[in-house]
Amino acid sequence: ELKVYVGIRKERKGNGEIMIWYPYVQMKSMKTPYKVKKAKGVYIYTEDKKLIDSVSSWWSAIHGYSNEEINEAAIDQINNFSHVMLGGLNHDPALELAEKLKEILPGDLNHVFFSDSGSVAVEVSLKMAIQYYNNKGMSKKKEIIALKEAYHGDTFKAMAVGDDADYHKAFPEKEGIYHICPKIEELEAILEKRHDKIAVFIVEPLLQGAAGMKMYDIQFLEEARKLCDRYDVIFIFDEVATGFGRTGNKFVSELVIPDIIVLGKALTGGYVGHAATVANQKIYEGFYSDDPSKAFMHGPTFMGNALACRIALKSLDIFLRDDYMDKIKKIERILIDSLKNLKSHKIKDIRVMGACACIEVYDAKDLQGFSQFAYTHGVWNRTFLNFMYTMPPYIIEEEELLKIVKVFKKWFDRE
Ligand code: PLP
Repeated sequence: ELKVYVGIRKERKGNGEIMIWYPYVQMKSMKTPYKVKKAKGVYIYTEDKKLIDSVSSWWSAIHGYSNEEINEAAIDQINNFSHVMLGGLNHDPALELAEKLKEILPGDLNHVFFSDSGSVAVEVSLKMAIQYYNNKGMSKKKEIIALKEAYHGDTFKAMAVGDDADYHKAFPEKEGIYHICPKIEELEAILEKRHDKIAVFIVEPLLQGAAGMKMYDIQFLEEARKLCDRYDVIFIFDEVATGFGRTGNKFVSELVIPDIIVLGKALTGGYVGHAATVANQKIYEGFYSDDPSKAFMHGPTFMGNALACRIALKSLDIFLRDDYMDKIKKIERILIDSLKNLKSHKIKDIRVMGACACIEVYDAKDLQGFSQFAYTHGVWNRTFLNFMYTMPPYIIEEEELLKIVKVFKKWFDRE
C-alpha cells in the first residue's frame, strides 16, 4: 500500500525580528551589520562607504573581490554544471585541482580529500589519523596533542582540539586531548609518557590565528617533526589560515613536511566554501586494502563541488603566475616599516609575519569602538578580544596598506 505523507506548514509571518542569526555575537546587543552592495578589488562598498578590506573576509579573499578571470571561470563552469556528487562520479575540475595540489605541495602529500569548510577538513584529518592506527590494529592510539590557545574550527572535535577559553566555554570536553606550548621539551615530555596512546600532533604552523596572531619559530616544527617520527605520531598542519602565502611561505609545509595538511579559506580565493585534507602516501596506504571496513567513511555532499574546484584552479593559477610571493614580501616590509614607530602605553606587542600584522593591547576595552572608527575612516576591520590586526588581500597597493596603518595610528593618537 502506498503511503503519502503530507507536510503542509501554516504560513509564518515575520515578527520584525532579525532572521539571520549572526556569528560570534550576542544578538540582543548586536549592532546592525553594514549592508554590502558590491565588492571589487580590495574594496567593499556598503550603502554609504567605500572601504579597504583590511582582513580579506576572514583571511580568505587573497585576490580581493570579483576578480575578472575567476568570474569568467566560474560563469563558464556554471553554464556547464555546478555540482554533481563525487560518489561514483568525477569531473575535470576536481581531478585537475587534486593534480595541481599534489604538484605544488611538498613531499608525498598526494592524496586529496575534498570537503566544504576548514572545520570539516580538520575533522577529516583527525578521523584519518585515528582510523589509520585502527586499521593497523593499534586502536589504543587515539589521543591528540594540540597547542595551547589553538583554534581549528567550530565543529565538535575541532573545538575539542582547540583551546580557546573564550569561544567554546559551553563545550569543555577534552578527553584524551593535551595542550602544550610550542616548546620542544613539553612535546617530548608528553610523548615519552604517552606515545603508545598518542595518534596525532596537530598545529597551526608558525601562526596561530584566532589565538591572536601568535607567532613562533620554525625550529619548533623541525624538532617536532623528528619527535613525531621517533614516536610514530601523525603530524598534522592545519594550514587553513597559513596556506597560500600568508606567512611569507607558499605553505609552511614547504619548510617542514607534515603527514597531513589541511587547506581552506584561500583555496578558492575566498569565493566559495571549499577545503581539502591532503594526506601522504603512508596514511593513504593505511586505508588501501581488500578489506572494505578499512575504507575512509566520510563524504560531505558538496565535496569536490565543480564550481568551487574550477574557482580554486583559477585562483591557484593567479597565485602562482603573478609573483604573489614577491607581493607578500613587499607587504611584510611595508608593515614592518610603518608599524615600528607606532607607540602607545596601551600596546603590549606588535608582531608581523608575511602578510599579517597584529597589535596586541593590554586591555580589550581599548579596542572597543575601533571597527566603527575604522569604518568612518574608510577601512573595514574587526578586532577580536585584545587584538587589532590586518591580513589584507595580496593585491593591495602600498598607499592602501599605509592607509590601514594610518587608521590604526589615528586610533591610538586620539588622546
Ligand atoms: N582552522 C584554522 C586554523 C582556522 O583559522 C579556521 C577558521 O578561521 C578553521 C580551521 C575553520 O575553518 P572554517 O571557518 O572554514 O570552518
